[in-house]
Amino acid sequence: MTEKNKMSHPISDWNNPNRHQSSVRLSALTQDKLNPLIVQAKVQCQGGQLPTYIPYLAQANPTWVAVQVQRIQGEGVAAGDIRRSFPLMSVIKPFVLLFLLEKLGIEAVFSQVGMESSDQPFNSLAQLQADRGKPRNPMINSGAIALAGRLLGKDGASGCETLRQWLNQRSQSRLFLDEAMLKSVRSLPNERNRAIANLLAASGYLDHPEIALDTYNHVCCLSGTVRDLAQLGMLLAQDTSIISPQHRHIVNDILITCGLYQASSRFAVEVGLPTKSGVSGAIVSVVPSQGAIACYSPALDETGNSKAGLFIVQQLAQTLELNGLG
Ligand code: GLU
Repeated sequence: MTEKNKMSHPISDWNNPNRHQSSVRLSALTQDKLNPLIVQAKVQCQGGQLPTYIPYLAQANPTWVAVQVQRIQGEGVAAGDIRRSFPLMSVIKPFVLLFLLEKLGIEAVFSQVGMESSDQPFNSLAQLQADRGKPRNPMINSGAIALAGRLLGKDGASGCETLRQWLNQRSQSRLFLDEAMLKSVRSLPNERNRAIANLLAASGYLDHPEIALDTYNHVCCLSGTVRDLAQLGMLLAQDTSIISPQHRHIVNDILITCGLYQASSRFAVEVGLPTKSGVSGAIVSVVPSQGAIACYSPALDETGNSKAGLFIVQQLAQTLELNGLG
């Protein structure tokens, strides 16, 4: 393996027999170690793209980088543009899944959505057609729109508000609905998501496609800072009395195989932390039994993942020998 590969890929650690016995831990992270990572991450933003199909997202500054690490043992550590808030976009999907597992149970949720990974883009209609209308997993748009239809509100705003309050209460975060972002999402018709909702309805996986789409758009615009996102990640990091451990494990397992669009499998092998990204440049990684890492940086790579965000998680996983086994 070349020196260059060693630097950029934790995969270089494969020959280490202790790879899955974490000796260093998230608790070893200090402010002094995190600060230089922001400087390096800013370099990674170069060449990244902002999404254009949501005009408000295209106005972000591609060099913004923020990271917050929350730990089960020890204080949180944060660096970069940490006061900036951003919409969660697809990062809300694992938390919609968690909420519905808690409210409806495993059987009801997985009668509506599968748990297999997909190598198609997150908004693929072809994947849904190939699967005869059953969404393949909850982390792609078809699955998330189907589940948004179960958020039980008379309209998108009320279903979203129920989720927002539930999450804020359990995670001590302060998520809010970014109305300007929602307006921007609605300003350009998303024909792909509409076609997905219609096919879901035609195949019996959705009763009210309009309300489901509206709810989906609302929950994607739930917003907060990296601190809020790391707090959400903590719901998936540790056993508590407020979330069923079985539901937590299901969400983490699905994140490992489906959380990062088409980059999921590679990241699972190289890093192994349950992670979800969104088109806004948000990323949350769960470090089971240790804590959570939240990043925000809007410049995306060709698969739609935050360039700087992925870099930070990879670097922390490598230097602190983090893995998803807890
Ligand atoms: N609201 C966005 C969409 O459906 C979210 C996509 C994402 O973050 O991956 O297009």
